[in-house]
Amino acid sequence: MDFLIATHNMKKREELHRILSPLGISVFLDFEKGIELSDVEETGETFRENALLKARSGCKESGMPCIADDSGLVVDALDGRPGVYSARYMGESTPYSEKMAGLIKELEGVLDEKRTARFVSVAAVSFPDGREYTVEGKCEGKIGYEPKGENGFGFDPVFMVGDRSFAQLSAEEKDSISHRGNSLRALKEKLSEIL
Ligand code: IMP
Repeated sequence: MDFLIATHNMKKREELHRILSPLGISVFLDFEKGIELSDVEETGETFRENALLKARSGCKESGMPCIADDSGLVVDALDGRPGVYSARYMGESTPYSEKMAGLIKELEGVLDEKRTARFVSVAAVSFPDGREYTVEGKCEGKIGYEPKGENGFGFDPVFMVGDRSFAQLSAEEKDSISHRGNSLRALKEKLSEIL
């Protein structure tokens, strides 16, 4: 079955493809189906609201079942920031090297045991007949003291799981524990129940 995915992030598309293709689910970006989805303003206050806004809009515009994910980094010592605003932290177009330096600075003096954080991902799917579902995945970790590793994207180099950052994991290792891996595996379960 073909699903549209409402994202422009090629890395996310790769992650979705890796996880969902074994289920017989093919995912496509808008341009791969010859359409162009409008950008959806992420006006929700929760990951769930934003994921649903994107999935609904993509489904409405394409007439295809549409999957969207909204995700972010929740840092306990910052009362949950940047959270749903992770992509916009210090400005949308600021390079991640600067965003990570900013985050590390905000946590200056915060002791190891208080540097707990989690990545959260909510995946939403919206069908042309009006059915919609959401599932959530998390991954617990800590914010490191300096960026480490070259893989992945976004805040991966400062998100430590044990003694390695997300950016020091292979794609397969990341998928097996990541928030998005977990939400997509939950989505896969959901889809296998309903399809
Ligand atoms: P979204 O595209 O609105 O879901 O924005 C998610 C933002 O959260 C990204 O732009 C990153 O800043 C951060 N983020 C989400 N997932 C990851 C990940 O797997 N690694 C690193 N950063 C992530």
